[in-house]
Amino acid sequence: MSEGVNALITQRKGLRADAPMPNKLSSNRNPEGLQLLISGKWDESKSQDLHEVFNPAEGRVIASVPFSTREEVTQAVGAADDAFASWSSLPMTDRIQFLFRMKEVLELHAQEIAILNTENHGKTLEESRGDVRRTIENVESAISIAYTLAKGSNLDQISPGIDEIMVKEPLGVFAIVCPFNFPVMIPFWFLPYALVLGDTVVVKPSEITPVPMQKVAALIQEEVGLPAGVLNLVHGGPDVVETLISRPETKGVTFVGSTAVARRVYRIAGENGKRAIVNGGAKNSIVVMPDADVNQSIPSIVSSFFGNTGQRCLAGANLVVVARDEGRLLDKFSKAASALRIGNGLSPGTEMGPLVTRSAKERVRGYVQKGIDEGGKLVLDGRNAKVDEFPNGFYLGSTILDDVSPTMSVAQHEVFGPLASVIHVETLDEALDIVNHSTSYGNMASIFTSSGRAAREFRRRANAGNIGINIGVAAPSAFFPFGGMRDSFFGVAHPQADTVDFFTDRKVTLSRW
Ligand code: NAD
Repeated sequence: MSEGVNALITQRKGLRADAPMPNKLSSNRNPEGLQLLISGKWDESKSQDLHEVFNPAEGRVIASVPFSTREEVTQAVGAADDAFASWSSLPMTDRIQFLFRMKEVLELHAQEIAILNTENHGKTLEESRGDVRRTIENVESAISIAYTLAKGSNLDQISPGIDEIMVKEPLGVFAIVCPFNFPVMIPFWFLPYALVLGDTVVVKPSEITPVPMQKVAALIQEEVGLPAGVLNLVHGGPDVVETLISRPETKGVTFVGSTAVARRVYRIAGENGKRAIVNGGAKNSIVVMPDADVNQSIPSIVSSFFGNTGQRCLAGANLVVVARDEGRLLDKFSKAASALRIGNGLSPGTEMGPLVTRSAKERVRGYVQKGIDEGGKLVLDGRNAKVDEFPNGFYLGSTILDDVSPTMSVAQHEVFGPLASVIHVETLDEALDIVNHSTSYGNMASIFTSSGRAAREFRRRANAGNIGINIGVAAPSAFFPFGGMRDSFFGVAHPQADTVDFFTDRKVTLSRW
């Protein structure tokens, strides 16, 4: 299996010097068919419903992904359920050894995984390396919490001769449903925690970027040696997700994706009596106060809007400028954004990769036009960006619309691309009003200021799950919960280290001897 996925690492021009040599491919090679991992075995899907998987930097098909049949999904959940009894009975100290090995294997193959991540998603190799680092940090975090937070509690002599203990027990099978934008890191917001706590999983990667996680599952299966059925992987879309959640053996689902789908997943989970952690979409405001240190702030602000080509749930979307002078901030922002070098994420010097699909590129272009039609002033136009070496890639340059009003669609809707909408206000109160009311999302909000008082006010009043103070992408490290508010999150426990109570049940025993 892993050879098949390895073969997806194509020969390409301008590969960074420190990247391992990829396998060569014959030019007439057929796209690689991705497989399913069920009960420790990789197999072709019987499905006739096949979808193309792209390398967006080259606009080239690199694989085909099958939408698993209902029977295959049922088998995968069944395999996870069969594996649960022995996996959950293993002492915690033994399960932890598998995670130590998992960390080792991910470290060893980090570069290879990062290259695949870039090849299928389009982000720069540097960004992919960051994704793999956070992936590994989640394994480390799962190991550390297993030795601490997974412990129960007890109270001796709660009554004469009676003791009371509470233990945390694993529950069974969990489905992990993933978005396209962090193909490996987001599954690892959940996977290592579920496994170390004694649960088993079925992972469903995004159908747009299934290649990197398939590679990681293969590495884990082959080099970590997990017992068959502990980790399963299926591919597909809405029907697969629905079947995964509604199977009686499934105890819960974790979902990360757009809010429209998040609502649906939360509803299906509720109707079926399943636990759910459901992270939705985002529309994040970056507020710049008059006292912000502009030179220090610009790199962070630029990276917030255009890092990952604007395709992250913590990306800046609205730049809210408070009582700012004669456009000085905007000039610098625009200059820095226009200098970003667009290209294949694997080419040296690339600072911004392509959009993930052709339709994502068209969606962003559509929003830019709508913004202009609704009265926005185009100060930087990336719509016709081209990369000569890769004329078929899905590229867009950084784009800035000034004089956007909070009621315009570009200010309210999630665009998920390299577009910054600039809104001018006079006071922090007005800025907070935009943060809290111009969209229904509440994933992240940032303020740039040199005033501790303004920062404190912002931290307390902004209705967002992640707050940045002089930080443009407030991404919680693995040891902290990753969650949003309002339409950005549905549920109680959040991804990462917050998942202990989600992946376990509490059992209380009273005893008298
Ligand atoms: P998406 O909602 O299109 O897809 C996410 C997953 O849901 C995929 O696995 C997909 O196959 C599945 N799916 C699609 N339609 C479905 C349906 N009708 N029923 C059941 N499942 C369905 O999201 P995407 O485009 O892959 O990812 C981008 C979105 O994810 C953005 O909205 C972004 O803000 C969000 N996101 C949120 C966070 C967060 O932590 N809040 C993190 C990353 C991404």
